[in-house]
Amino acid sequence: MPTNFLHTPIDYLQGIGPAKAKLLRAELGLETYGDLANFFPNRYIDKTQYYKIGQLVPDAAHVQIIGKIVHIKTVETGKTSRLVATFLDDTGQMELVWFKSQKYFKDSLKLNEYYVVFGKIGKFGNTFNMAHPDMELYKEHRARKQSAMTPIYPSTEQLTKRQITNKFMVRCVQQLYSEIRGSFTETLPAGIMQSQSLVDKNTAMFQVHFPDSNESLQQALYRLKFEELFFIQMELLHQNRMRKTRIKGYDFEEVGAHFNDFYNNHLPFELTGAQKRVVKEIRADMGTGAHMNRLLQGDVGSGKTIVAVLTCLLAIDNGFQSCIMAPTEILAQQHYAGVQELLADTGIKIALLTGSVKTKNRRVIHEALEDGSLNILIGTHALIEDKVKFKNLGVAVVDEQHRFGVAQRAKLWKKNTLPPHVLVMTATPIPRTLAMSVYGDLDISVIDELPPGRKEIKTVHRYDKNRLAVFSFIREEIALGRQIYMVYPLIEESETLDYKDLMDGFESISREFPLPEYQVSIVHGRMKPEDKDYEMERFVSGKTHIMVATTVIEVGVNVPNASVMIIESAERFGLSQLHQLRGRVGRGADQSYCILMTGHKLSKEAKTRLETMVATTDGFKIAEVDLQLRGPGDMTGTRQSGIMALRIADIVKDTDILYAAREAAIDLLNTDPKLEQPENEGVLRVMSFLQSKKGFWKYIS
Ligand code: ADP
Ligand code: MG
Repeated sequence: MPTNFLHTPIDYLQGIGPAKAKLLRAELGLETYGDLANFFPNRYIDKTQYYKIGQLVPDAAHVQIIGKIVHIKTVETGKTSRLVATFLDDTGQMELVWFKSQKYFKDSLKLNEYYVVFGKIGKFGNTFNMAHPDMELYKEHRARKQSAMTPIYPSTEQLTKRQITNKFMVRCVQQLYSEIRGSFTETLPAGIMQSQSLVDKNTAMFQVHFPDSNESLQQALYRLKFEELFFIQMELLHQNRMRKTRIKGYDFEEVGAHFNDFYNNHLPFELTGAQKRVVKEIRADMGTGAHMNRLLQGDVGSGKTIVAVLTCLLAIDNGFQSCIMAPTEILAQQHYAGVQELLADTGIKIALLTGSVKTKNRRVIHEALEDGSLNILIGTHALIEDKVKFKNLGVAVVDEQHRFGVAQRAKLWKKNTLPPHVLVMTATPIPRTLAMSVYGDLDISVIDELPPGRKEIKTVHRYDKNRLAVFSFIREEIALGRQIYMVYPLIEESETLDYKDLMDGFESISREFPLPEYQVSIVHGRMKPEDKDYEMERFVSGKTHIMVATTVIEVGVNVPNASVMIIESAERFGLSQLHQLRGRVGRGADQSYCILMTGHKLSKEAKTRLETMVATTDGFKIAEVDLQLRGPGDMTGTRQSGIMALRIADIVKDTDILYAAREAAIDLLNTDPKLEQPENEGVLRVMSFLQSKKGFWKYIS
């Protein structure tokens, strides 16, 4: 077999004519022998095992059972009928059911003879059943050579319609292996194979389709998953290293007057250990002559602002300007106020630029930017308009990265000879495994420690019927001078209904907390912006006690006096949204509370979400659970990345393999960065193919 057999079009395979080849191409993207070899089953039917009726569980999927039929009857229900056989073994009894060909089965099935039945288990009432089982007399079954595990390949509706069955796919793969078996070239170095106890490529590629036993299947799967994750890590790490050597950045080797003066004389508090570590990482990045592209993750309130400020000071010490971009005007204003306060006594010039800055002031800012007298510019998207020209932008800090597109970030780069260092800050934690596999081109820093003295937000789950107790708790908090948020879901598909819920809620709250003693604000998406701002302002300034709102309050508001967050229909919110909403309270010195209100009926997943919220306030733990519940598809930032194209590994379930693969990749790149050792030839070959960007598995073999 020639070494390029993998590129042979599937049309050449015996048994696949042009029509079927066309269908396989269109439906499954299978073009070549290589594609077919790497078309992995998504499950297996294990006919090496026999189950006892007494062991059955409802989700047992396909099982094989030995027993005998003791009774057969026809059951009529209205116009339809079914044939039901009572089937038993020494542990219990179940039913076999036929809807089609009832007469045939009724006549041909033998009572009191041992059969082997095989099929999917269902349950009706207390009785297990199997509809249209595969059946064979036990004595014939025993005489026949046992087939082991049957692979089940992914399929589509079209394929099923056009008679491309699993049997057909199995035959194709069998035919393929009769031609190519043993001709895969090893891709992994012997050292890694040994240390990870991996089976070789040929064994794995055969066993994954035709496993001899569950054990050899597991070994094959492990090897192939490891290989897939290993090469993804190799590529990410390689890209990252290339970026660092190729893309030059300004060298901030000076840690000078401004940084030191501020650090020694103006820090309003001692930095947490995590903040110190992150500042060190940033300093190290910017002092190497390479370009910094760093993601800073830290929960709401973990103290990212001070890190941003210290980063800006490093730029100023080296004769550069810096900017901080926020996604909304409110956030930009808050940053501006905060940074101004921090740097009040330092003589550093700071300006705020947003859409609402008047033309005259704008001109002043533009001039100060261009002549270099302005040190730090804080603002919204207004910062990246073409008219805004820095004299020398050294650092760009971007807050809440998911609201800025990549293209917008790139715009900043155009203003300089070298790209400014970029620090992206986000309060939406990304699980480590995901970050590791998605943000390969970014370095990551984490603030995983809250400033001391924070009171943990107390979170409870309450059912709707306990509403009166919740109301009296609200009354107590208001009596103590606190303010309350009450949030309703707003989901586009049911907007009208949600709106009704919100208005009903507002009415009942207004009745429960009547004027003039109580003041209630309401904010939602159907209001005019002026009205929204007016109501918002009344709550922020403490004129109203309760804010009834949809999730519009998720971003931006900072009301330290608000101590209670009540989330209505909490079961309808996703975990990250619940976490973001809870982050609106707990900003002041008082004990804060989050109350999750739900009805009685809850799905299993909703229960898990609520339990998670009650159990922890750690954004990273919450993000991990979210990833497990939802899978990577819906998580921030994954959509554009290659992670969804994983062929065999699962980013949620195979985290151990991911860590092992990453470590092996780091080791390899450290010992042989250019992959020059003969034993790494296979790795080099795969990497070159990957860089030619022609897809992944096609060329991994
Ligand atoms: P976020 O990460 O949400 O942007 P901030 O930077 O706004 O958090 O910080 C939240 C609050 O915590 C601010 O009032 C800030 O002054 C305070 N803070 C930050 N770091 C510390 C620290 N090390 N010790 C005490 N308070 C801190
Ligand atoms: Mg912040």
